[in-house]
Amino acid sequence: MSGEGEGARTRRAGRPAAQSPERAALLARVRRTRTAAEEQVAHLLRAAGLHYRRNVRGLPGSPDFANRTKRWAIFVNGCFWHRHTGCARATVPKNNRAFWVEKFAANRRRDAAKIRSLRALGFHVLVIWECELDRSADRLARLARRLSEAVRPTSIEP
Ligand SMILES: [Zn+2]
Repeated sequence: MSGEGEGARTRRAGRPAAQSPERAALLARVRRTRTAAEEQVAHLLRAAGLHYRRNVRGLPGSPDFANRTKRWAIFVNGCFWHRHTGCARATVPKNNRAFWVEKFAANRRRDAAKIRSLRALGFHVLVIWECELDRSADRLARLARRLSEAVRPTSIEP
């Protein structure tokens, strides 16, 4: 999970001084949500009989889930930090707006670079947004199908 790392990078990039209670609460909420989303994905992968490792540091971007042999990687992205396009959760804080806009742009560039690097290594990359995991059982079932189809051995280079 990249939440802690992003925090460290933010500080180096010159985060506005003190951490407000509001921001601390926001970060806590983001971390909890993301963890819950990752647990849901782990459950879906197990249910689909897919084997994986978590937080694979040896691969570009340390994917949340990956299988090197089958060459697939999954990122479970928080809609806020990773800027889910058109999503209601991808808000921009009103304070220090310019800082956030630049930070979010950097996050997007980094995410795109991770995916490019993995694809260059022959990996099939899937991005799952946290809001996709908050919906009805119906949507979850569709997502599980998408997951198992996306990582079918036939769609992956040996
Ligand atoms: Zn979203």
